[in-house]
Amino acid sequence: MTRIYLDNASTTPVAPEIVAEMMPFFEERFGNASSIHAYGQVARNALELAREELAKEIGAKPSEVFFASSGTEADNLAIKGVAFAFLGKPIHIISSALEHKAVLESLEWLRKKFGVAIDFVAHDANGRLDLDDLKRKIRPNETRLISIMHANNELGNINPIKDIAAIAKAHGVLFHCDAVQSAGKLPLNVEELGADLMTISGHKFHAPKGIGAIYVRTGTPMESLLHGGTHERNRRASTENVAFGVALAKALKLANACLDETNARVLSLRNAFLDALRNEGVPFALNGDQENCLPHILNLSFPIPPSRKLASDVLLLALDAEGVAVSNGSACASGAEKPSHVLLALGKSEPEAKASARVSFSKFNALDEVAEAARRFANALKRLL
Ligand code: PLP
Repeated sequence: MTRIYLDNASTTPVAPEIVAEMMPFFEERFGNASSIHAYGQVARNALELAREELAKEIGAKPSEVFFASSGTEADNLAIKGVAFAFLGKPIHIISSALEHKAVLESLEWLRKKFGVAIDFVAHDANGRLDLDDLKRKIRPNETRLISIMHANNELGNINPIKDIAAIAKAHGVLFHCDAVQSAGKLPLNVEELGADLMTISGHKFHAPKGIGAIYVRTGTPMESLLHGGTHERNRRASTENVAFGVALAKALKLANACLDETNARVLSLRNAFLDALRNEGVPFALNGDQENCLPHILNLSFPIPPSRKLASDVLLLALDAEGVAVSNGSACASGAEKPSHVLLALGKSEPEAKASARVSFSKFNALDEVAEAARRFANALKRLL
């Protein structure tokens, strides 16, 4: 049985041209970018070129771009780094219950350890944010940061970032945008979006896992979290990962160069999958804001009777047995799948959230794979519905 990978919002395969781009930095160009000798300078030049390319792709200055080991690290740095810059003063941060755990758990940690006040902006049953509620929640001289993702990793919803940034700016509040899911799918220009901080992760757009970046607008107060050297201009101590930094910049450049073409192709895969599911007679409902969504993410609920007492991973395991890889909520530390916090926050019951799956496509999926995946969905669901 050939396996079909439809979990591209979790991670994507590394593109062959990205592997080729990295290889010299594992071989003859292996130097430490912080060394003064020729080996070091070769690595340094490559890293700074990558930083310039990355900055250009997001409309920033190279001095505003810092490499990090992941989207999670970059989100932690944005949120904790800004909060630490205001320690000793009242600190209030506004976010959304629909954010990634990298944001939510950083906020929860700040609340527990430092008494930082946290509020979540209200949303409707499709995950659309209520911007009037956001305005109401801003506390003069206390709200330091608004952190809202560009696009939701489970639903695909695209948030009205420019409007949110304008609200933040009008109130003198910093704005962080987690753009991990939108990078390589939507144009990301920090000036147009109005972000003071923005975070991305390479493995969502065909670079390797373990490399991300954070944009920090010049003058933004942000403490470092890692100490032990002057790397990344004192923002992040660690010997630089030159190969992965180069890969990150190249992958974003490649993705942006054919954004419209890739999105059109991925959208046609998504629509073909939905048509095939309907043709197979599979009953489903779509979750999220269908008018404003990324083309590559689908979130589907199936009317599996609650009497089945579905464990969260039963649906995924049934699909995996059919050779189809998809996902639902995030894996918790024990390895068991919890129901998605996003679907629960939309008002779904636990059984409903457990009877849902996120299906996500990439340019490497083929049309016939998608039709075959729908057939296998029908097989798997026959046993559960
Ligand atoms: N933020 C969002 C929206 C994500 O989807 C993810 C990963 O799924 C992350 C942050 C974390 O990125 P990483 O996997 O690079 O740690």
